Amino acid sequence: MSSLDVYLSEAHRSLRKQGREVAREEVAPRIADMEAAGTHTDHGIARIVGERGWFGVFIGTEHGGLHAGHVAKTILLDELSYVSGAAGAILQAPLIPTLALLYRGSVEQKQRWLPQIAAGTLYMAIAVTEPEHGSHVLGMTSTARRSGKYWIINADKCWVGASGIAHLHVVIVRTGKRGDPRGLSAFLVEADRDGLEVTQPPLVGLHGFTAGNVRLRNVRVPASALLGEVGDGLDIAYTASTVCGRPNLAAVALGLHRRVLDVTTDFLAGRPRYDGVLADLPVVGQHLAEMKSRLMTAEGAVYYAAHLLDQGVSCDAELVNSKLVNSRAAKASVQEGKDTHGGYSGRADYEISRLSRDIDLVSAPAGPDDIQLLRLSEVARGTDRVQWSARYLAQTASQTPPV
Ligand SMILES: Cc1cc2nc3c(=O)[nH]c(=O)nc-3n(C[C@H](O)[C@H](O)[C@H](O)COP(=O)(O)OP(=O)(O)OC[C@H]3O[C@@H](n4cnc5c(N)ncnc54)[C@H](O)[C@@H]3O)c2cc1C
Repeated sequence: MSSLDVYLSEAHRSLRKQGREVAREEVAPRIADMEAAGTHTDHGIARIVGERGWFGVFIGTEHGGLHAGHVAKTILLDELSYVSGAAGAILQAPLIPTLALLYRGSVEQKQRWLPQIAAGTLYMAIAVTEPEHGSHVLGMTSTARRSGKYWIINADKCWVGASGIAHLHVVIVRTGKRGDPRGLSAFLVEADRDGLEVTQPPLVGLHGFTAGNVRLRNVRVPASALLGEVGDGLDIAYTASTVCGRPNLAAVALGLHRRVLDVTTDFLAGRPRYDGVLADLPVVGQHLAEMKSRLMTAEGAVYYAAHLLDQGVSCDAELVNSKLVNSRAAKASVQEGKDTHGGYSGRADYEISRLSRDIDLVSAPAGPDDIQLLRLSEVARGTDRVQWSARYLAQTASQTPPV
């Protein structure tokens, strides 16, 4: 029995077993080819994940989804990322816009899109970030303007996760004045609309996953493509990032971190030194202890936050903290893992090298560590004004899974 078991039901344990089997039997054999290909779009992983219905982990059974909740999602991301950070990323990125659709989608939008997502035949992406404005969402310059029954969108977005596989983008753009929190709106835009172009810049890691540039030039969408109301863009972006993006990245970091500890332990326990192995040396054993301690704290933070969501408890601070703790812990442990690999940390064919490159890419999505610190400083001072998770839970109360 693990201490995590307090958060897990029988269904969760069975899902972990299934996630572990799929990751080890179907994802692991693909890694060598994915690494050799560098930055590219791996359609096979999305198919493996989609066939299990995992893109529909939050979606209600009335739309064909698993209705399994946030702990279940954490388990899947943790298990996939333990084997492949790219596979974890390929599942996590489409879940963020899916949550946005569940949060603010109309009955017609949900009926149209959710069954396809749940069936694994349609993948989503969310396009918020812009090249110059980055984490300053309210600073964005991309626009949509109304033209009769249509909206005309012009946007330059970057770092759009899963852009290589996405059929449907949630695009956040300006429809009002700069600086006005109600000045942004969200639109559902099919990837094959005229004027939408995707390019993929090279990434240092997560090979098989893409985070590309999405350019929209005079893209015309019907009025029915508006997600929520005019002015809901910031609410949708922040809610999706807080309730889904942050804990997703925390779970991906956790899976990679678990792997870092296992790979490092195996290396140190297998490398002869004096009358034993390197792991026998007290100072080396202490490195393993430091990594284990960080891992336990990080693991607790993300499962706790996910459990609170499943219980219907608003928990922005816990969600933000789960991302901060897991991002920092994984970075610190992979550095310690590399240090204890000696010269072998410089060998591209050693797994610690891939883990390090992948961990480099889980810090920025859903906000770099400094942004999480900014949010937590607001919590400490009592100046945080909006509980995004409370809004989400209120809006989706009937969709909260039985736990
Ligand atoms: C692998 C990956 C996947 C991603 N997926 C998506 C996606 O699916 N959709 C999407 O829209 N975006 C996505 N992103 C983009 C991600 O959200 C941004 O990288 C992030 O918001 C930071 O923006 P930036 O990189 O432009 O950095 P900037 O905002 O320019 O920040 C650079 C640095 O400046 C500091 N800083 C900036 N602002 C502040 C502040 N207010 N307070 C304190 N310090 C600050 C921090 O140290 C920060 O690291 C992804 C990014 C990556 C790497």
